[in-house]
Amino acid sequence: MVNSQKKIAVVALGGNALLPETQVGTFEEQQANADTAAEVILGIVRSGYEVILVHGNGPQVGQVLAQNEESAAKIPMMPLDVCVAATQGTMGYMLTTALRRAIKRLGIDKNTLTVLTNVAVSHTDQAFQNPTKPIGGFFSAEKAQEMKETKGWQMVEDSGRGYRRVVPSPKPRKIMESQAIRDLALAGNIVIACGGGGIPVAKVNEKLTGLEAVIDKDFASSLLAEEIGADIYIVLTGVSQVAINYGKPNMQLLKKINVSEAEKYMAEGHFPPGSMGPKIKAALDFISAGGKEVLITSAEKLEAALQGESGTYIVSC
Ligand code: ADP
Ligand code: MG
Repeated sequence: MVNSQKKIAVVALGGNALLPETQVGTFEEQQANADTAAEVILGIVRSGYEVILVHGNGPQVGQVLAQNEESAAKIPMMPLDVCVAATQGTMGYMLTTALRRAIKRLGIDKNTLTVLTNVAVSHTDQAFQNPTKPIGGFFSAEKAQEMKETKGWQMVEDSGRGYRRVVPSPKPRKIMESQAIRDLALAGNIVIACGGGGIPVAKVNEKLTGLEAVIDKDFASSLLAEEIGADIYIVLTGVSQVAINYGKPNMQLLKKINVSEAEKYMAEGHFPPGSMGPKIKAALDFISAGGKEVLITSAEKLEAALQGESGTYIVSC
């Protein structure tokens, strides 16, 4: 029986946590990182939440693309939506293995599973006119021209290092499996969902079609938290607290801020567009849709943050 008294946490985990820049990304490295992440997730479970985990896939989807590019002469290249789906499978597998090990060791009464997640976007989203997200490897000018002609890729010159493909990053509109994800969490499963921001799909000429785009995982995870009515939306990232004047001598760590303070700091430019900006925006989206609280912190400080001793909480007022 599903118990509506249960509390749900949607937890967003950066792709770098599972494959940091300092590693090459062997299976053993990635599985060990997943084992570490699993311990952190079970900390949230032990503080009384049903957990839905959304992971990023930036480094991992980059590797899948590189494999496709390297072997293109022998095996047909797959479109980007298929590559995102592939990372949901590989990362979901490593994370559920890690969670099962930790569940067994700690004697916790839970199961875990991964939901391949499709996220509806609009194929008329402005982002399709203006692709901004660089992905995959670097190409020579000649090869870039060939990919433009044969695959219709958009290419940009990236800081003197060569040409890179850029893809659109459309706004997520609806998580296709959110109801099932919620039911699975309330039935006692730690659910891994919406990996890499989800597989972008849209109705094109009345037909459900995957699109070559990358959805921002910060926006996808806050939308999922909103759709399932999560009690808390937790963002695990590289810092234990959000700050104003970040990295400057007058830096000030934030313990708890409300929506109007967050909006004011955002307008003053404290949260850059490529990093903390989308997290704060995603947090504000969740709160303005009726969400109670958001916690932004690091994996290391999560336990302390759940006890109110670290982290940054964002609340409505
Ligand atoms: P993720 O991989 O989790 O999405 P990002 O690197 O995109 O992480 O964003 C988090 C990073 O943003 C932090 O690790 C920090 O370096 C940076 N950052 C920028 N501005 C701030 C700020 N005002 N407060 C805290 N961290 C900030
Ligand atoms: Mg980020």
